[in-house]
Amino acid sequence: MSLDHETCTKCERYSKEFNKRNNSLCVHLEVTCFNSIWDEEKQKPRRPSPELKKKKKEEIKRSVSALRNSLGGQLLVHLEGLSPEDPSQGNFDEFIDDDLQTIINVDETFDDVYYKKTLQEDPEFVVIDIEPSSTIIITDPKTKFIIDKGFTPDSAQALRFFLKHISYQQDPHHSEVKHRQPFLNDETIQTINEKRDIQLKGFVFNDITKEQKKKEEILRDPEQFVDHLWDLRLPLYVTAFAKLKGGGSYILGIGEEEKKFSTVIKGQTFQYMSKSFEVHGIELPTEKYPQIEHLIEQRLKGGMCSIDYKGESLDWNDIHITAHFHDIIEEGRVLLEIVVNPITGVLFYDNKGPEAYKVEHREPFLKCTRCELKDIITSVTKH
Ligand SMILES: [Zn+2]
Repeated sequence: MSLDHETCTKCERYSKEFNKRNNSLCVHLEVTCFNSIWDEEKQKPRRPSPELKKKKKEEIKRSVSALRNSLGGQLLVHLEGLSPEDPSQGNFDEFIDDDLQTIINVDETFDDVYYKKTLQEDPEFVVIDIEPSSTIIITDPKTKFIIDKGFTPDSAQALRFFLKHISYQQDPHHSEVKHRQPFLNDETIQTINEKRDIQLKGFVFNDITKEQKKKEEILRDPEQFVDHLWDLRLPLYVTAFAKLKGGGSYILGIGEEEKKFSTVIKGQTFQYMSKSFEVHGIELPTEKYPQIEHLIEQRLKGGMCSIDYKGESLDWNDIHITAHFHDIIEEGRVLLEIVVNPITGVLFYDNKGPEAYKVEHREPFLKCTRCELKDIITSVTKH
């Protein structure tokens, strides 16, 4: 059996038949995955499991993007258990259309790309005709772009522009960059604020017993401390800062809080809510510093990959990311700053690079496989 996901004998039969004519992939989907089940006892509908929904949505997205990246084809969706008396496919459309829409390029419409019909021989099957894409569809770019308020929403599109733009430049815009120094010192701490190259993260846990215990464990164990940085999305910020002309700093130990500010407008006094930053630091024992530093480097190195503007792999020695422990508030309380220097290329927080799929022939079925990084870059820069 070479299909790498859930299937059934019906799915297999139609896959074989369709593959004789076209590229086709099949997704097996029970109707209860997108329709609520009526609970007779409680006399109310029970919603489908969110985990199953997520898994199936990802499978569909992978399959559709693979077909679009492989000269188009057909996606067969087996709606197992569909009642012959149920005329509506509204819930199924709601289940998949938003995902299908994310696999469309800016110069296309939904109607250009997809055509859905019910299979005449078996109404449990929906067949979606899928047009090929003129440029490779990246389902997850695995790299971030940042604006002052946070990450840009469409990083796949941003990555495409970034790679295309700079691949034609003789002298990439990063060439003027100098070595970035740690941002924090006795002066900068006074007016600290978040902006595109400064990301502040609190190390605050509620004083509920369980949370307090978790905090103590994290402070004791460097492995857990670094896990916590990953939970706070350190690798994502690293990839974003590496694209800024001046790099960036990720700082742990400064939290954001809501605060009231008094003001007067047209003679009227009132208060409004805004944000302020609280420097609280971390009670981290000095002897843990070297191990934490080492673990951060090892995990970044192992979990990332990078390319220069020609699409060639960059040496890790050309990437400068350093950890600094600042003892500037009071003794025993530290602020951790990860300084990220810009690189002449792109960093990804996945060691395989961006996620894009293609269809591969594996007898007797077709299979979705992940595209190689070099093929993605060639395709993006060529179109
Ligand atoms: Zn099936």
